Amino acid sequence: QISEAEVALFSVSSYACQRRTTLDNHNSNLTDALSLLAENAELNNEDGRGVAFRRAAALMKALPTQVISMSQLRGLPCLGEHSLRVIKDVLENGVSSEVESTKQSKRYKALKILTGIFGVGAKTADRWIREGIYNLEQLRDSGQTLNRAQKSGLEHYDDLNEPVTKAEADAIGEIVQKAVDSVLTGSQVALTGGFRRGKLTGHDVDFLITHPEEGKEVGLMPKVVAWLESQGFLLYQKTTRNSYLESKDGPARPASNMDRFERCFSIFKLTKGKEQESTQPEEQNDLKTKDVLRPHMQADTDQQLCELSKNYQMEAASHKIWRAVRVDLVVSPISQFAFAVLGWTGSKLFERELRRWAGHEKNMSLSSHALFDNTQLCFHPVS
Ligand code: ATP
Ligand code: MN
Ligand code: MN
Repeated sequence: QISEAEVALFSVSSYACQRRTTLDNHNSNLTDALSLLAENAELNNEDGRGVAFRRAAALMKALPTQVISMSQLRGLPCLGEHSLRVIKDVLENGVSSEVESTKQSKRYKALKILTGIFGVGAKTADRWIREGIYNLEQLRDSGQTLNRAQKSGLEHYDDLNEPVTKAEADAIGEIVQKAVDSVLTGSQVALTGGFRRGKLTGHDVDFLITHPEEGKEVGLMPKVVAWLESQGFLLYQKTTRNSYLESKDGPARPASNMDRFERCFSIFKLTKGKEQESTQPEEQNDLKTKDVLRPHMQADTDQQLCELSKNYQMEAASHKIWRAVRVDLVVSPISQFAFAVLGWTGSKLFERELRRWAGHEKNMSLSSHALFDNTQLCFHPVS
């Protein structure tokens, strides 16, 4: 037991974008719990609850030391009643009962599996669950009509659910650079998304492409995509042209958090490169079976043995010489490039908070296209 006076009190800004972000997390037990509930809310299309849990998790991650007592949290922003209840549960019992029951729930497991398919969002997954589809096998047997993205997502399911490494992101960066150099000299490629924030792995790789001469970037995306396609780098691609022109009519207007740049959601076919091979010395190759089995030696039930052989089969399948990787390409004119880099660097919560701060504290509007002073203009120049 420690006395009230010994307990460290924290002072933290209520806007995530005003806090120093760090890779050191002293409260991962709490942020894991809150993030899982955020994820579950998002999977259930409860965006408000999702944001509340994301804010609470980001706040706990920003604290300089480990929280050991609820009294340390007095006066902190971003912690709603529900988040405080979850934190209290973890501090007192080591785990949150709500998190544990969510993890075990049939619905959560199914939502995770189904939205793990590229092209499947919370709404589609919910519809399938209501039709009794809880896993990939049931989906395949159901005869559901899948769109092109979903077919591709299902085909490359394991690869796309395997985190992308920084080395793979860099290898893809070189390919993208080569593609833009081949179709328009002087074009620039910037790595954005989580890798630009220093993350070591990601669910995809995000790139922003521009050209130093305004206007030269027009028509660049189809040429880049055609080059990549001709070289056999693309397993799937869907290009959406920039939506400035259609935006006045309404229907083509994207959701408020989406920008209007020309973009390409794709799946790359990445040949496993030298970086990856060299990390695995050759003589280890014939030890594969043992290496795969060793961590599971305690397996003593049929179910565990079955799991084991499945792992081994997956390991064998991974000997193929390429893997599928999700890649997002965005093209921006140089005049908007700075805002585009900022907007595509993330995290999603950071972007949201930055825009909230600009609006509420500075009376300005920030987007991936520009920053406006609301007191200087009475209309939004990009619409
Ligand atoms: P991960 O490492 O898991 O990929 P990430 O932070 O890179 O994490 P992404 O989903 O790739 O996450 O998104 C990267 C950034 O791009 C986010 O900041 C997001 O705001 C922005 N972004 C993603 N999709 C869109 C979109 N359709 N319109 C505008 N911005 C988007
Ligand atoms: Mn990303
Ligand atoms: Mn992305």
